[in-house]
Amino acid sequence: MSEKIMSFFASVEQNFNQAAPFTGQPSGLLEQIRVCNSVFRMNFPVKIGDEVRVIEAYRVQHSHHRLPTKGGIRYSNHVNQDEVMALAALMTYKCAIVNVPFGGAKGGVKINPWEFTPDQLERITRRYTFELIKHNMIGPSIDVPAPDYGTGAREMAWIYDTYRAFKGNDIDAAGCVTGKPVHQNGVNGREEATGRGVYYGIRECLNQADDMKKLGLTPGTEGKTMIIQGLGNVGSFTGTISQDEGGIKIIGVGEVEGAIYKPSGIDIHDLLRFRKETGSILNYPGATNIPREQRDSILEYECDILVPAALESVITRENADRIKAKVIAEAANGPVSAPGGEILVKKGVFIIPDMFLNAGGVTVSYFEWLKNLSHMHFGRMEKRFNQNQFQNLVELIENITGKPVNEKERALIVRGADEIDLVRSGLEETMVTAYHEIRDVMMAHPDIHDMRTAAFVAAINKISNDYMSLGIWP
Ligand code: NAD
Repeated sequence: MSEKIMSFFASVEQNFNQAAPFTGQPSGLLEQIRVCNSVFRMNFPVKIGDEVRVIEAYRVQHSHHRLPTKGGIRYSNHVNQDEVMALAALMTYKCAIVNVPFGGAKGGVKINPWEFTPDQLERITRRYTFELIKHNMIGPSIDVPAPDYGTGAREMAWIYDTYRAFKGNDIDAAGCVTGKPVHQNGVNGREEATGRGVYYGIRECLNQADDMKKLGLTPGTEGKTMIIQGLGNVGSFTGTISQDEGGIKIIGVGEVEGAIYKPSGIDIHDLLRFRKETGSILNYPGATNIPREQRDSILEYECDILVPAALESVITRENADRIKAKVIAEAANGPVSAPGGEILVKKGVFIIPDMFLNAGGVTVSYFEWLKNLSHMHFGRMEKRFNQNQFQNLVELIENITGKPVNEKERALIVRGADEIDLVRSGLEETMVTAYHEIRDVMMAHPDIHDMRTAAFVAAINKISNDYMSLGIWP
């Protein structure tokens, strides 16, 4: 167990301990919430080429206060027990914050996925799933994995297929894993979900006139400047949606090959196309290049919103003093270290914490699980009924006014919601509601000065209520 990884779990505990006194919950209950309920470590053999490789893997179920437990599976060489425990704990709090009725879990397989062929990865994934089935650690009402670093829809499809092969009688088998391809019992909108949720969280933050006044900002998203680190799944969707729906101007982007800065604004769709064509964001027309060795300096440029969407611990006590952003939107998991965060909060920077802000993925995973259990896609029952109702309404308006509604307006009004519309609307509702639940905690406790502590307080109280219903706490 390395010191670095110990510190990740310890840092989650530190945040928990900082928030715990504000909850007033009994110490035994707090201890029960803090600990990991089950830690399963496994080693299994897989034939790779002419050799047999023994693979180390984990599944941690942090809290059973709600079932099933839920959390991604990470494929990385850095996977170890403490990292998986920390990530599982964060899942518990994340689900509570966005009112997704799951306990927290996480899985990890200690491999570098880019070293293996798809065929070998399939064997590893299926064998890992078999171990989970054998130990009753997967199932739609037990524990439901999802993608994480190094895994995606392809791996989830293999997990589903393996589960189905062993549990053919389980009518809800499709709900054993989420993040599946849309055509294999997945849900529309899952791919963009985290980035879209990040945008909704940022928008809600910027809409609070009182909070913005303290930061010297006008309320609203329009014309605000943003810098993004990491143009992967989360960073690219955060960028495109912030630009298209919020009128936010992206002025800087950091990636592995370097960073670019363009104060007049970067069209993020065009940049994504440019990177696909040239293999790099560098030399984007009109932008200043920042070479690879200094790429992290993009975090220190002046902007309204800084979005770290790549790695953990990119803002620490080393560079926190030089950060000029007014709002830091933690799209990645753990981008701001605890000491770095303390410096930023003292400086008056507003940090929207990861536990809330990147919860869009698990929220839409919840919708996928519900879709799987209902055996029906969203909108099937009501879409046509709504269309007919709206059509009647348009005709009524035409009869009353004596004027025809033009075709464009008619098409806009009579459209019934598709699955993607319902998923987006459910995600928006979830993020906005959760934002205000956390903000209410901040308002109620003058001694809480940061949104992360408030988010922990909100989460601990909700989980406590669930445990209280068991009737064993006074
Ligand atoms: P990803 O692999 O798709 O994207 C990460 C991007 O960061 C890549 O484009 C990579 O090239 C870039 N990058 C790596 N090192 C960098 C560096 N030093 N400087 C600049 N860019 C760098 O991963 P993702 O799914 O977008 O996840 C990003 C973060 O968001 C992670 O912390 C992840 O745990 C978190 N997260 C992701 C999801 C999700 O649904 N994908 C959900 C919750 C949290």
